[in-house]
Amino acid sequence: MLSLSAEQEMVVSSLEELARKEFSDAAFSWEGEPPMENIELLADRGYLGLNIAEEYGGGGMGEFEAMLSIEAVGQVCPDTAEYLYNQQMVAARAIEMFGSEEAKERYLPGATAGEEVIAIAISEPEAGSDVGAMNTTVEERNGELILNGEKVWVSNIPHATAVVVWVKFSDGLGSVVIDLEDNDDSIEIEQHYTNMADHTQTQFRMHDVVVPETNVLTRGKNGFKQQLQALNWERLGSATLSNAIARCALEKALEYGQQREQFDQPIADFQGIEWKLADMAKELEASRSLTYRAALNAEEQGRIPDRMDASLAKLYSGEMVENVVSESLQIHGANGYQQGHALEYLYRLARGRRLAAGTDEIQKNQIAAALKRNGLPSLS
Ligand SMILES: Cc1cc2nc3c(=O)[nH]c(=O)nc-3n(C[C@H](O)[C@H](O)[C@H](O)COP(=O)(O)OP(=O)(O)OC[C@H]3O[C@@H](n4cnc5c(N)ncnc54)[C@H](O)[C@@H]3O)c2cc1C
Repeated sequence: MLSLSAEQEMVVSSLEELARKEFSDAAFSWEGEPPMENIELLADRGYLGLNIAEEYGGGGMGEFEAMLSIEAVGQVCPDTAEYLYNQQMVAARAIEMFGSEEAKERYLPGATAGEEVIAIAISEPEAGSDVGAMNTTVEERNGELILNGEKVWVSNIPHATAVVVWVKFSDGLGSVVIDLEDNDDSIEIEQHYTNMADHTQTQFRMHDVVVPETNVLTRGKNGFKQQLQALNWERLGSATLSNAIARCALEKALEYGQQREQFDQPIADFQGIEWKLADMAKELEASRSLTYRAALNAEEQGRIPDRMDASLAKLYSGEMVENVVSESLQIHGANGYQQGHALEYLYRLARGRRLAAGTDEIQKNQIAAALKRNGLPSLS
């Protein structure tokens, strides 16, 4: 159990109530489209961008509260939670952390109102885990910043109005934000892919995109370090999404197990099934503990997540959600294996969590590097 303040309790209970009342009927029917009706409702009630400052239309709270909101909604409708995750923990977070005042005023109010989606473009055909090998550049030409390069696997592009792009400056890695509509002529969509969860991921090329100086988010000596700080929030958001998907799967397993009878008794009364439910709860709660501990530690450190904390939570939550969803599907028998069943969708959705925002292997590399550098984490 988490020990929450009255305000945090309110976030969880009101969002849980809202999600169960308004989002449950259409959950699992979005077929890759963002659930815009749900997003509008969340925006109307002031629940979009809880961790963004009030002056930009956000809730003025921290990442911990934003993560609580993702979990409360995601246990009912994972697609709505995925949108919340993207809007709160990914590109908008990076803009608020490192953007100029002009960039914050330009991009954040639209994001917190649910009117603008900001994608994030890191991966390239030849630079996946090895981001340092990226070829997208920003050069100074005749007093202007000019961006060229190619990105791949970028989520949300069909709905996005802007994109945060990781780039190479002459003085190292950095990031900028660019408008998509204003740069229509300079951005060429090469291919839309459909991933296992029916979500679109896009490959696109940028030709001589002019980047206003005020749209530079990070560059110079600390550019890459700052980007990793933002990426670690993305990893904690991803862990929260995994926890929400797993909670959704566990709830369905518990319900189905108590209702489905075989050998004249509910299957949830067989010890073999009870132990599955217990193991699923054990893994889920362990994952939540790692995730929320990382967020609370980060808030004490000026909203900067510790790299090892973030990687431990991201790694464990990805493994956990794959297992919990698979076990829930097992409890559902052939029902859960049918196309269109919630478990079939959750199974496909869960698998992406071990890849997106840094693979399991990269998290392990980070953890091992931190152990070798700093020794074991402190006991306190
Ligand atoms: C659902 C989903 C959404 C995504 N959304 C976005 C997005 O919005 N924007 C974006 O930019 N990208 C996005 N991605 C891409 C994602 O960031 C990459 O898939 C990820 O960084 C891995 O890169 P890669 O796929 O090129 O794999 P590779 O880097 O080619 O890795 C292939 C395999 O080799 C392993 N490997 C690589 N290096 C090492 C090493 N040093 N040690 C051990 N093993 C290693 C990897 O762990 C992996 O198992 C998304 C991916 C998914 C699945």
